[in-house]
Amino acid sequence: MIDKTFDHPRTGDLKPTVPVDIPKMETAFSALGLSDALAFGVQEMGYVTPTPIQAQAIPVVLQGGDVIGSAQTGTGKTAAFALPIIQRLGTHGKLRCLILEPTRELALQVEEAFQKYAKFTDLRVTIVYGGVGYGKQEDDLRRGVDIIAATPGRLLDHLERGNCSLANVDILVLDEVDRMLDMGFLPDVRRIVQQCPKARQTLFFTATLPPELEQLASWALRDPVKIEIGRVRSPAETVAHAFYPVVATQKFDLLHQLLDRTDFKSVIIFCRTRMGADRIAHRLEKSGHTVGVMHSDRNQRERIEALQGFKTGKYEVLVATDIAARGLDIAGVSHVINYDVPENAEDYVHRIGRTGRAQNSGDAFTLVTEEDVRDARSIERYMGVSVERKKIEGFPYIYSALFDEKALAETAAAAVKPASRLHRGARR
Ligand code: AMP
Repeated sequence: MIDKTFDHPRTGDLKPTVPVDIPKMETAFSALGLSDALAFGVQEMGYVTPTPIQAQAIPVVLQGGDVIGSAQTGTGKTAAFALPIIQRLGTHGKLRCLILEPTRELALQVEEAFQKYAKFTDLRVTIVYGGVGYGKQEDDLRRGVDIIAATPGRLLDHLERGNCSLANVDILVLDEVDRMLDMGFLPDVRRIVQQCPKARQTLFFTATLPPELEQLASWALRDPVKIEIGRVRSPAETVAHAFYPVVATQKFDLLHQLLDRTDFKSVIIFCRTRMGADRIAHRLEKSGHTVGVMHSDRNQRERIEALQGFKTGKYEVLVATDIAARGLDIAGVSHVINYDVPENAEDYVHRIGRTGRAQNSGDAFTLVTEEDVRDARSIERYMGVSVERKKIEGFPYIYSALFDEKALAETAAAAVKPASRLHRGARR
């Protein structure tokens, strides 16, 4: 049994404690300085080895240091900050930790992760986001919480209404800050940071650091430790991916065949447009599949319902646009099908990263029409690998020239895109 009391340079009153009935732990997580309770908790969740961001960030956060991390979702980033934060907070008290997220989905995901990791503590975690009523959030805030995961706009509303105060925030996490910038949230973020005490620990996560964010970071952080976990250029090795060439008029039939011939547990189908997603969902429902739909035209209730339905198995198929591809962590997705090739090579990696997560294997199929050849090539160049072209035996293809690799290569060579295209920001 250990009762580690860490040096808290900024927030000296935080004293981590360990519940009495947890065994003494000697794991790779306890070696990073995590208490027995937390090491036991992550062991219960099946984590054996810390991911690189966890190995680097946990000791720094435990010591109270500020961090600029460049890791993306899917790297174990949430646990990298949540575990040491829970340890630092120790036992229930005032609102001492705020995590800002750009979207409701990410806020929900982070809140869920905190709930799981804090299972063996009496810390209270809640979530605050827009698009829903105030009642439950007000009740939760009034009851007293230690940790809030929030989107900026709604948090400001609560602050203005006097429903909560940030005066005791010891630890501030600004997550996915580049997305907050894209979404126009930086002024709100600044207003929120200003309401937190100056003497605090700040953790700042972003995939890129354009000048606006460098400025924000130098204003909000003190002597940060930089932790860079390379950009996700290639999909996890646990994902097998293939391109399925087909003419545009046969896309839906091919999708249908793929679903019929694949033994899938749960599949996410990505479309480029919201209307396209609705149309595919409707056709799949008509052919007997249970389908959830996620895109930005759907309201909050519909999005949560679709996601929950997919997670619990009510829907075997989730049809989504790219907004759902980024960051969403859904366990056990066995297949990803790109009904449309993403325009942006990085989106491909994000989309197919929804399967093969946390060491599970997964398959990713992409339908490639004659018009998509250039985008498909861009994806291969971006990842630095060539993706196998596959054909479904017995499917009545009407344009067999699509399978002529030489012709495809020539078409692609004639239509090479400027490199800058590959690094353009993600579409939302
Ligand atoms: P994140 O990057 O925080 O979205 O995490 C991605 C997924 O990896 C989540 O499902 C986590 O539960 C899982 N995960 C996080 N850390 C580990 C670990 N050390 N070992 C195995 N899985 C992990």
